[in-house]
Amino acid sequence: MLGLMQDWSLVCHRIIDHAAIQYGKRKVITRSIEGPIVETTYTEIRKRALKVAQRLAKDGIKPGDRVATMAWNTWRHLEAWYGILGAGAVYHTVNPRLFPDQLIYIVNHAEDRVMMTDLTFVPLLEKIADKLLKIERYVIFTDQAHMPATTLKNAVAYEDWIAEVDGKFKWVEVGENDAAGMCYTSGTTGNPKGVVYSHRSNVLHSLAAAMPDVLGLSSHDVVLPVVPLFHANSWSLAFSAPMNGASLVMPGAKLDGVSIYELLDKFKVTVTAAVPTVWMMLLANLEQNNLKLPHLKRVLIGGSACPRAMIEKFQDNYGVRVTHAWGMTEMSPIGTAGFLKPEVAHLGHEDQLDVQEKQGFSIFTVEMKITDDKGKEMPWDGKTFGRLKVRGPGVSKAYYKGEGGDILDAEGYFDTGDVAHIDELGYMKITDRAKDVIKSGGEWISSIDLENLAVAYPDVAEAAVIGIPHPKWDERPLLIIVAKQGKKIAKGDLLKFLEGKVAKWWMPDDVVFVDEIPHTATGKIQKMTLREKFRDYRLPTAAE
Ligand code: ADP
Repeated sequence: MLGLMQDWSLVCHRIIDHAAIQYGKRKVITRSIEGPIVETTYTEIRKRALKVAQRLAKDGIKPGDRVATMAWNTWRHLEAWYGILGAGAVYHTVNPRLFPDQLIYIVNHAEDRVMMTDLTFVPLLEKIADKLLKIERYVIFTDQAHMPATTLKNAVAYEDWIAEVDGKFKWVEVGENDAAGMCYTSGTTGNPKGVVYSHRSNVLHSLAAAMPDVLGLSSHDVVLPVVPLFHANSWSLAFSAPMNGASLVMPGAKLDGVSIYELLDKFKVTVTAAVPTVWMMLLANLEQNNLKLPHLKRVLIGGSACPRAMIEKFQDNYGVRVTHAWGMTEMSPIGTAGFLKPEVAHLGHEDQLDVQEKQGFSIFTVEMKITDDKGKEMPWDGKTFGRLKVRGPGVSKAYYKGEGGDILDAEGYFDTGDVAHIDELGYMKITDRAKDVIKSGGEWISSIDLENLAVAYPDVAEAAVIGIPHPKWDERPLLIIVAKQGKKIAKGDLLKFLEGKVAKWWMPDDVVFVDEIPHTATGKIQKMTLREKFRDYRLPTAAE
């Protein structure tokens, strides 16, 4: 027997329709690339998104065609997203921080027909444009007055381009399982692989992400997505904020601590989200200038492990709740979030931090398991770790054009490449990337745990731990440290600080100090580059 409910397809542009109908006056505020703050509303965003869709159709863009955006978070970028979706086309967010060769590879692999971009990236694109084979036109997110002279093919100012149509247009009809968006994984090994979201997966993921135990969004919130649209769908915020009538504050190109603080303060932001490196800059600015965050209620931190010291600072010094979350491009992207369940809400300060340091429990629509290398399931006891695998309607079942082959196990689970343990309450803790874990004498040492402990030392700005080959133990940990500006750290003092906080055999065999630790395009520590740099490093213990 079938249900007798309507087939109301879960397509993304219904989100902006709802926002315009129910929350039409809610604001979208942007620090524009040209400089000034620009304010608009969901009603206006929808109107102009219809123009984008109509204009794309006029340019011959058909359902399923890919339209690239390489742009900061701005109101124009948001309009473009909904316009592309409403034309039945597929937005392809391109991360400008990728190497030029990777940019060329992914734009060609996705066969993008149009590239929409910011003034910032015009010089970069001019350098590689002759290799972007399928791009027919470049739309620059600006107006006539700011349009630069450029060699980019058929380049046009966005405002001029959409002014050529009247906006009397109906969204192009697509099915909920049709492709909506694309984002390539950063491909630390091999070529980047294309993740293809459907309308349905985006809508379901955004519904799940907005729930009270995850982002907890409502029309009373003002949300600042520092995490870019090109980093895994800005963790759902371009959908989940309008869906719930939350206002958006878009930071444009300025993501430094001073600029972000200005926006948080001036526009009374209540919820924000970004990777830990962004928050390191913000916290440094707050501390140096003795600033407060009276309006901010919650901060979502993910993309890499959030250090305990960061959670503590936000909560104890500024009264801002941290939600530590984990996910990946292949998961739309949120997989888990660290809201405090009633069972742990009464715990004392340190015990609560123990829970919050974990990456949280799976959100509705995500199922997870941990297995050994042979695929045998491991218990949820908070100790036993294994490969973390996930399934759900927002999880990839294949990469674009079949790259990487069959990526699911017999039960339909996707191997995340992360190593984790899960406790009895369902809280998951990432102990490492499978390829970064340090294998010492047949046992595993978590590089992430050591890094998080090291950054709790007052003069440490950033820490990375890699495994260095060792004649007796296979590998031993090397601790790589960036000291805070103007500070000098004695190796012995730092090691003493770690003593007793980890098992003896986890203690780093050596510490080196560097000026900078390299990061990937999505803000993660580039372990591969570090391993390369310290390839010939000889640990003092290697001679023992
Ligand atoms: P990339 O394209 O750089 O891989 P993703 O955002 O897809 O970008 O990266 C996903 C990976 O990031 C995860 O598999 C995990 O290793 C890491 N990650 C994400 N969030 C966290 C977190 N809160 N703690 C630890 N690692 C995380």
